[in-house]
Amino acid sequence: MTDANVLKVQDLRVSFRQDGKLHPAVQGVSFSVGRGETVAIVGESGSGKSVTALSTVGLLPESASVEGSVTYEGREMIGASLADLRDVRGNDISFIFQEPMTSLNPLHTIEKQLAESLALHQGLTGDAARARILDLLNKVGIRDAENRLSDYPHQLSGGQRQRVMIAMALANEPELLVADEPTTALDVTIQAQILDLLMDLKRSEGMGLLFITHDLGIVRRIADRVCVMKDGAIVEEGPTAKLFANPQHDYTKTLINAEA
Ligand code: ADP
Ligand code: MG
Repeated sequence: MTDANVLKVQDLRVSFRQDGKLHPAVQGVSFSVGRGETVAIVGESGSGKSVTALSTVGLLPESASVEGSVTYEGREMIGASLADLRDVRGNDISFIFQEPMTSLNPLHTIEKQLAESLALHQGLTGDAARARILDLLNKVGIRDAENRLSDYPHQLSGGQRQRVMIAMALANEPELLVADEPTTALDVTIQAQILDLLMDLKRSEGMGLLFITHDLGIVRRIADRVCVMKDGAIVEEGPTAKLFANPQHDYTKTLINAEA
């Protein structure tokens, strides 16, 4: 592909069927993420951020009606077969969510969670897998990684669990990481550590990042570009510095004023 965009979303529309009626959640959203770029989607609760994020990785529930186009390196994700979606999710794109406890299996040790992911996506097993697991845990700043391998998720702190989730997300060496409020459930100091980690990894791994948040402070800190979302639509988009210095839309102005 000659297109410099890793992810391209065009006129995405998502509705949920409830009580026999269709309720729109996302109403014509378009944006793209370039190679190695960090794009933030910011907006208040219920504005459609998570639905947008889930659409980009093909993880919306069956009850959703989806229209528009989501291409990943030119491959259409909307309406793609499960096999194609798995291929993209396994090889090129990863995602992390707000609460790692729901994504980690409580009955599996840290080693087992990572081993399964490596076996599935990389075909790595045995000593090679173990070496890669330690490498990944070191990469995400889990100290004393060898002694953490036999821990279960509940034995780790929230910050450590999110680090393990990030390690799992990195296992397939993604071109793009989609992160939906990955620090929202964490204490402020831990939040800062996880953001620093993501920024370091982004530089060292050269991956793109789609970062979903309601927190403008985070956007300011990490994003190259911002999309401001309200009521299922992007009301304003632009380079971060420009958008903060010279917001155009009233809603963006309100958000920025509320932050101060
Ligand atoms: P945000 O992440 O910005 O807080 P969401 O994307 O989660 O907002 O939700 C956008 C809208 O879509 C909300 O009105 C929400 O109630 C609705 N919604 C999200 N997921 C579902 C679902 N699985 N079924 C029905 N409605 C949903
Ligand atoms: Mg959300």
